[in-house]
Amino acid sequence: MTSPLLSQLQQESRKLLMDRSVEGRVGATLPDLDVPECELPSTDLIRDDLPLPEVSEGEIVRYFTQISQYNFSIDNNFYPLGSCTMKYNPKLNDLIASMPGFSNIHPLQNDATVQGALQVVWEVQEYLTEITGMAGTCLTPMAGADGELAGMLMARAYHLDRGEDQRKVVLIPDSAHGTNPASAVMAGFTVKTLPSDNEGNTDLDALRESVGENLAGLMITLPSTLGLFDRNILDVTRIVRDAGGIVYGDGANLNALLGRVKMGDLGFDVIHSNLHKTFSTPHGGGGPGAGPVIAGPRLVDYLPSSLVCREEDGGEVRFKQSTPEKSIGRMGAFQGNFGVLARAFTYIRSLGGEGIRSISDDAVINANYILEKLKGSFDLPYERVCMHEVVFSARNLKNNCGVSALDVAKRLIDYGVHPPTMYFPLIVEEALMVEPTETESLETLNTFIDIMRTISEEAHSNPELLHEAPHFTPNSRLDEARAARYPDLRWRPSHGDSE
Ligand SMILES: *Cc1c(COP(=O)(O)O)cnc(C)c1O
Repeated sequence: MTSPLLSQLQQESRKLLMDRSVEGRVGATLPDLDVPECELPSTDLIRDDLPLPEVSEGEIVRYFTQISQYNFSIDNNFYPLGSCTMKYNPKLNDLIASMPGFSNIHPLQNDATVQGALQVVWEVQEYLTEITGMAGTCLTPMAGADGELAGMLMARAYHLDRGEDQRKVVLIPDSAHGTNPASAVMAGFTVKTLPSDNEGNTDLDALRESVGENLAGLMITLPSTLGLFDRNILDVTRIVRDAGGIVYGDGANLNALLGRVKMGDLGFDVIHSNLHKTFSTPHGGGGPGAGPVIAGPRLVDYLPSSLVCREEDGGEVRFKQSTPEKSIGRMGAFQGNFGVLARAFTYIRSLGGEGIRSISDDAVINANYILEKLKGSFDLPYERVCMHEVVFSARNLKNNCGVSALDVAKRLIDYGVHPPTMYFPLIVEEALMVEPTETESLETLNTFIDIMRTISEEAHSNPELLHEAPHFTPNSRLDEARAARYPDLRWRPSHGDSE
């Protein structure tokens, strides 16, 4: 169907830099020599065996532009990656964070010279405390999982302080994020998994049977990774607290709750939130993040150091760094990833209270719109209103057509959409977790719905097409385990002996 010449041009545009090299071609014009010419070093100091690409300037620009376009990002196209919230991040956030007063300061500078930056930290602490209905916030944990570890270390310090060192068991529902049990174990606890009931809520009977003298607490992701609000949450937090346990809330993704529900009001003792998900910092690809840990009254004195506090002295306001009385110590250097904090500050200030609330309105409406429109094409494990994300199952496609969630995800790449999160949560077979976010237009949502319906039809009419997808990327299916263990990051000459 495509002309051979066309695909030849396409092949060329995908060539590696060294493979574009043509002997004698140069990409730079040097000025005339205006210094005395001197001898080259002796030839045994000059290497002949180091090949450098010989390419024109145009060729090298094309090469780097090409590889930059292999990256998929939220600024490119729709990125409905459940649990990780790839929402659009306003450019204003970056602009403010890069202002010299924020970007050209040093953490060891005297506090008196960085009052503005400290004020930003203090205000973000205050906003998060207010938004979540808790008692105090520390911004220094570097990521969500780091915030979880902080929270669980705080829970441990609390029990030890009270002489209750037998409290070792942390209960975690099977709908929790995978980092939750990992963090509990890292903080020295043992984990017991709680089942979900058939509506996707925490099973209360199982919870009641599991609480006792050795209960340290419970870690729960809210909304759960099923994209559901746990209808039993008030009972869950009460049962755990009555038994002397600490209730940890994973609020990495607060998009469904902002301006509507305060986790403090639900009985949580400590939570974390991801600024790089909910509060609009670009992420993915391992960029910097921030996972503030936010404590209720029982744990606020155990927050990590350091916090920023505001003091007023004879009408003069000063911002100072301070350490809470029973602090567990540092989770990260200085004030954490300050650039991320400045972005969250800008985001919260530019939205204001009403704007913050409209995030949860739109995030939940968008996810439910997709749920309604696609439930005829994909299985819905729980027939109920979802929160900011919706989890489908490709179980029927698998059973009827031999097409898996992975095949669907790979085929989406052909249509220019980033795949949703797959095979997670673990309790849903062939899971496809879609989080449209609040920043997408109705047109984009409709196009995505059409694409997903088309893929479901293709699964029935031409399953091979899906098994072999993606068809239009430089590489198709990778051996992912091998790619991670033996990354091939370097060009090697094909005639060399290195392979
Ligand atoms: C992303 C996420 C985490 C972990 O956050 P990191 O910044 O990746 O460490 C924890 N819990 C939930 C629910 C998440 O979505």
